[in-house]
Amino acid sequence: EAGTVAPIPSTEDLRAAKDKMDNRRKAKAVFVILARNSDLTGVMQSVKQMEDRFNYWAKYDYVFLNDDDFDDTFKELTQNVIGTKAHYGKIESDHWHQPSWIDEERAKAGREEMIRNKVIYGFSVPYRNMCRFNSGFFFRHPLLADYDYYWRVEPDVQFFCDIAYDPFLTMQDNGYKYGWTLSLYEYELTIPTLWSETKKFIQENPQYIHKNNALSWISDNGGESYNLCHFWSNFEIGDLNFWRSDAYMAYFNHLEKAGGFYYERWGDAPVHSIAAALFLDRNEIHWFQDIGYRHEPFQHCPQGEFHSRGKCWCDPKDNFDFEGYSCTARWIDMMK
Ligand code: GDP
Ligand code: MN
Repeated sequence: EAGTVAPIPSTEDLRAAKDKMDNRRKAKAVFVILARNSDLTGVMQSVKQMEDRFNYWAKYDYVFLNDDDFDDTFKELTQNVIGTKAHYGKIESDHWHQPSWIDEERAKAGREEMIRNKVIYGFSVPYRNMCRFNSGFFFRHPLLADYDYYWRVEPDVQFFCDIAYDPFLTMQDNGYKYGWTLSLYEYELTIPTLWSETKKFIQENPQYIHKNNALSWISDNGGESYNLCHFWSNFEIGDLNFWRSDAYMAYFNHLEKAGGFYYERWGDAPVHSIAAALFLDRNEIHWFQDIGYRHEPFQHCPQGEFHSRGKCWCDPKDNFDFEGYSCTARWIDMMK
């Protein structure tokens, strides 16, 4: 009503509100950022946005992981933009480097084949190390041992909307095990034998397949072939204990033995997505459609009420979900 002024809160009110925030219920959760020292500027961009959109009030810690030692500049400048505590860890050599039993001749031939086919990162061994680490090792790092949930953040990403609730508690309270924002089709040339290996694994371990799985999202013929749909894993909010489970560990170990992280260029995105689609109840997979997010060259911009509620600054028309290369329409269809 015109002329009315909101009452100024008393010191007691403010103190009580602060206590309530300080003592609010939280999940055992953490942000995880894999990065090199040279990723510093991009990391600061991503973290600054995460702090401004969400973590200034939510107050979760960060874990930074690297195959090398983080230098002092990296640690100082990242900690400067973080209001909570940041932990910096080195990855043990075996969890990062190409195992000695991999046939390097065969791996090299695979890399050369990918160059001929102009596959992105086709010749890169470090990229393969990264994909294998994210597939099978990050959740076993000692710095993550005390946590149940993680939010994966990459350098150079954008968060478009205010996050006024706690997505980690959303995961925990609803029993969600995997959360995502963007989905798309994988380059087939990077995973020629991933599906045949997966089928072998299923045959040997049928007990791990959930009866209400999301197989129909990743296969159009009941599992005969993979339709290449996957969640874009540069954004993930997940349950670490899912990756630590017998089902996933057995699956990862099977894939590891097959060698495709090096003979081919298996990405952690299809590996995580196939596992989630097979071993989880589809209702344990949550689409965070309210979280506006960009990782070049694609973005998810929340629509309608989600856009206004989040005070998002992305153009709602610039939304990858509508495009032919997204698998999100298929997800919505399946979940109907
Ligand atoms: P893209 O998103 O697939 O283009 O790959 P990125 O270059 O963004 O790499 C994915 C993630 O792994 C990012 O968080 C990178 O910072 C990180 N990363 C990639 N390669 C390396 C590496 O050799 N060492 C370390 N420590 N991190 C890496
Ligand atoms: Mn990236």
